[in-house]
Amino acid sequence: MKFVYDFTEGNKDLKDLLGGKGANLAEMTNLGLPVPPGFTITTEACKVYLDSGEEPAVLRDEVSAHLDALEQKMGKRLGQADDPLLVSVRSGAKFSMPGMMDTVLNIGLSDKSVQGLAKQAGDERFAWDSYRRLIQMFGKTVLGVDGELFEEALEKAKTAKKVTVDTDLEAGDLKKLVTTFKKIVKSEAGRDFPQDPREQMDLAIKAVFDSWNGDRAKLYRRQERIPHDLGTAVNVCSMVFGNLGPDSGTGVAFTRDPASGHQGVYGDYLQNAQGEDVVAGIRNTVPLAELEQIDKKSYDQLMQIMETLETHYKDLCDIEFTIERGQLWMLQTRVGKRTAGAAFRIATQLVDQGLISEAEALQRVTGAQLAQLMFPRFDEGAKVKQLGRGIAASPGAAVGKAVFDSYTAIKWSRSGEKVILIRRETNPDDLDGMIAAEGILTSRGGKTSHAAVVARGMGKTCVCGAEELEVDTKRRRLTVNGTVVEEGDVVSIDGSTGKVYLGEVPVVPSPVVEYFEGRMHAGADDADELVQAVHRIMAFADGKRRLRVRANADNAEDALRARRFGAQGIGLCRTEHMFLGERREMVEKLILADTDEEREEALKALLPQQKQDFVELFEAMDGLPVTVRLLDPPLHEFLPDITELSVRVALAESRKDANENDLRLLQAVHRLHEQNPMLGLRGVRLGLVIPGLFTMQVRAIAEAAAERKNAKGDPRAEIMIPLVGTVQELEIVREEADRVIAEVQATTGTDLKLSIGTMIELPRAAVTAGQIAEAAEFFSFGTNDLTQTVWGFSRDDVEASFFTAYLEKGIFGVSPFETIDKDGVGSLVRSAVEAGRATRPGIKLGVCGEHGGDPESVHFFHEVGLDYVSCSPFRIPVARLEAGRAAS
Ligand code: PEP
Ligand code: MG
Repeated sequence: MKFVYDFTEGNKDLKDLLGGKGANLAEMTNLGLPVPPGFTITTEACKVYLDSGEEPAVLRDEVSAHLDALEQKMGKRLGQADDPLLVSVRSGAKFSMPGMMDTVLNIGLSDKSVQGLAKQAGDERFAWDSYRRLIQMFGKTVLGVDGELFEEALEKAKTAKKVTVDTDLEAGDLKKLVTTFKKIVKSEAGRDFPQDPREQMDLAIKAVFDSWNGDRAKLYRRQERIPHDLGTAVNVCSMVFGNLGPDSGTGVAFTRDPASGHQGVYGDYLQNAQGEDVVAGIRNTVPLAELEQIDKKSYDQLMQIMETLETHYKDLCDIEFTIERGQLWMLQTRVGKRTAGAAFRIATQLVDQGLISEAEALQRVTGAQLAQLMFPRFDEGAKVKQLGRGIAASPGAAVGKAVFDSYTAIKWSRSGEKVILIRRETNPDDLDGMIAAEGILTSRGGKTSHAAVVARGMGKTCVCGAEELEVDTKRRRLTVNGTVVEEGDVVSIDGSTGKVYLGEVPVVPSPVVEYFEGRMHAGADDADELVQAVHRIMAFADGKRRLRVRANADNAEDALRARRFGAQGIGLCRTEHMFLGERREMVEKLILADTDEEREEALKALLPQQKQDFVELFEAMDGLPVTVRLLDPPLHEFLPDITELSVRVALAESRKDANENDLRLLQAVHRLHEQNPMLGLRGVRLGLVIPGLFTMQVRAIAEAAAERKNAKGDPRAEIMIPLVGTVQELEIVREEADRVIAEVQATTGTDLKLSIGTMIELPRAAVTAGQIAEAAEFFSFGTNDLTQTVWGFSRDDVEASFFTAYLEKGIFGVSPFETIDKDGVGSLVRSAVEAGRATRPGIKLGVCGEHGGDPESVHFFHEVGLDYVSCSPFRIPVARLEAGRAAS
C-alpha cells in the first residue's frame, strides 16, 4: 500500500484517502493553479498509527523519497543552513473540522537556518518572527506546552517595548523572544527544541496523527456525527510567506457570500500576516475588495481563479490564499460551508446558471437547514435598545443571559438558563461553551473567524466582530457607549443582521413558515428570494420523492396546519389525546364502573364526543387518509396520582370523613398500578380487557365517517390497533370491529370502506409480521416503542439517566430514539416489511414514530420501501425534502 501522494498524484475524489484539504490541493495543482508543491500522507497511515501505536514501517522511506523530490523541485533542502526549505505540516481529515486539529508552520528553521532565511529574504525581522512562531506552535501542539506561556511572554515583550501589535516588535526583540520561548520549551517539555529539521517534521506528523484523538476533535466529531475511525491525512507543503512586508499578506475568500448566496467579492484580507492570524481573528482584517487597491495584479488573478474554481466545483468554494511579495499562492480550497438560507439560494442559482440539475440541487440542501429556516426571528417592529452591530455570521434569533466564559455558559445552561456566550474572540477551547449557549457574540474577527465558522457548522446563532463592544472577560462585563452589560443581564443577538440588543426582543415567525402556512406566496412581490428558493426546492423534492408524507395530528387544527404544510394524510391520531381535560372524569367513570350498566353508561357518554372529534378530523382531511389509533396508554394515566390520593384519603380518614368516591378511586388506582406500565395493560390489551371500549371507538369512527359521507364528504378512515404482539389479538379485535362497521353501514346506508391495520411496535410483532399481515390491511411502524423494546430502554427515563454517558463513550453517536438504529431496530423493520408484503402484496406500510421526521431516518425508510412516513406537522416540510433527496 502506498502511504504518501505527491500533490500532482491526487484529485478531489480521493477525500477518504487524502482528506479534504489534500484532495483539493491536488485538484488545484492539476488545474494548473499556483499551489506551493508538497505531498500528502494518507489517512490509511494515520489509521495504522492509531491502531498499532506505530507508524507503518515503510512510511519513513516514502516520506524521504517525497521530501527528496520536493527538495529537488524547490532547489533547496529542508532546513538547509544558508537557504532553508521550510514546510508546513497540516492536518486534513475527510470532513473539515475547523480549528480542531493541529498545524505547524515554518518547519525547518533552527538556530542556524534562521540566519540563512534572514539573508535570503533580506529581512531579519521576518526570519526571527518565523522562528518564534515555529517554536510557539511546535511547543504547543507537538510538545504539549501550555500555549498561554508563549502568549504571556509575547505580551511582556510588547509591553516592555510599549507597543500593542506584534508587527512593531523588531528583529532584536524577536531574537530575545526566541531565547525565552526555547527556555519555556526546555522547562515545560523537559527537552530542547529540536534543531534537526527532519526530527521537527517527523514529530509534527505524529502530533497531527495524535490530534485526531484530541478531546476537541472527538467532541466536534460527536457533534457533527463524523465517524471516529476515519483518521486524518497530513499535508506537508512548502512554505510561502504572507508576512514578508506590505507587498505580502494572506486572506480568505468565498466565491459567493456564504450568508446570502449572492455572487460577488467576499472575504477578508490581512496584509503582512500568516494564515493563522486571519482564522484566529487576532488582528482585524480588511474586506477583500480592498485588495484591488493594495495589489491589483494579485487581485485580478484571484478573481480569475475563483471563477475557475466555481465552474469546476459547480458550487460555492472557499479559499485560503497567501501573497508572497506580489506572487499569489493558493493554500486551500473546498466547497464552502454556508448558512441555511444561502444553501437554498445557491442551489437554485446554480440550477439557473445551468451548472447543476434539479436532482443535484436537492443534494445541496438538507432537512436540518430547512428546519433552521423555520426558526422564529426577531420582531422588527419591537421597541428595542440596540447596543451595537457586528457581522452576521450565523443566522437565528438568540436571547439569553450574558456570560463571559465557557465554564459559566456550561454551568448556567445545565441549570436551565439560556445564555449568550460573549467573548473577545473564541478559540477551540470554547467549544463546550459554544455548544451550551443559545448564541455567540464576539467583538473581534471576521466571517471566517473561529467563532463564525464553528457556529455556522453547528447552526448556532452568531454575531462576530462587533467592534464597538468592549468585552472585559476578567470583570465579566461589556461596555458600549456608556452602557454596561454585566454577567446575567439579558441580551438578544440577531445572526441574520448582526445586530445586538439589550434585553429580550420578542420573536416572530420566519418567512419560510409564513410561506408554508400559506400566508405568503412565493410569487408575491414582497416574497423574498429565500421564500422563492425554498418554494422551488420543495417542488423539486415533491417531484422526485416516492415516499408520501403524513402527519401525526389529533385535532382538526393541527390537521389543517399539517395539510397546509403538505401532509398527504394523517398517519397517527392518538385518541388518548381526546380523553384529556374535562373528559378525564368520563374515563374515570368507565374505569370505576362496577357493573355492566355503569360501564355502558360511561361509554355511551363518551361516544358522541368521540364521534364529533372524528367528524371534525375527517372534514379537515377530506379526501386524504386518516389513521385513527384506538386507545393506547395504561388506564391509570387517567386516574389521580397514587401518592397524592393516598395522602388525601389518609388525612380524611384521620378526620373520619373519608368519602366513598375517593375510597373507590384509591382502590382502582391500586388495582391498576403497575411497576412497568409501558409493558403493562395498554394498547390492544386494554381493548381486550375493558369490554366495549374499542367497540365504542370503532363505532364513533364509523358513525363519523358515515356522517361525512352523507354530507357529501370523502372520509378515508383507517383504524389502527396498537401494541399488538400476536395475530390472535388482532383477530379478536378485528372480528368485533368488522361487526360494528357492518352494523353502522347498514343503519346509515353507507359503504364506508374502512380499513383495519396495526402498529408494529413490539419485537414479536416484527418477527411474526408475516402472520400478522393476514389480519392487517396496513402496518404502521411504531418505532418509539419498537426502539424501547428492542433496546430495553425506557423511553421516558433514558435520556435523563445514562444516555449522556453513552454518547460520551461513543456507544452511539446519536440517541436511537432520535435517529433510527438501522442495524437493530431498522433490521426488524426491514424484515417485517418483506414478511408483510410476502403475505399481503398490497399491504400499506408506514412509520409514525418520531423517526418519521428525522432526516437520516427518512432516508432509511425510503430505502426499505415504506409507502409513507408520518411526523409532527412542523416537521412535514423537512420530511418532504428529505424524501425527495433520498429519491434523487
Ligand atoms: C410509537 O410507539 O412509535 C408510536 C408512534 O406510538 P406512541 O409514541 O404513541 O407510543
Ligand atoms: Mg407506541
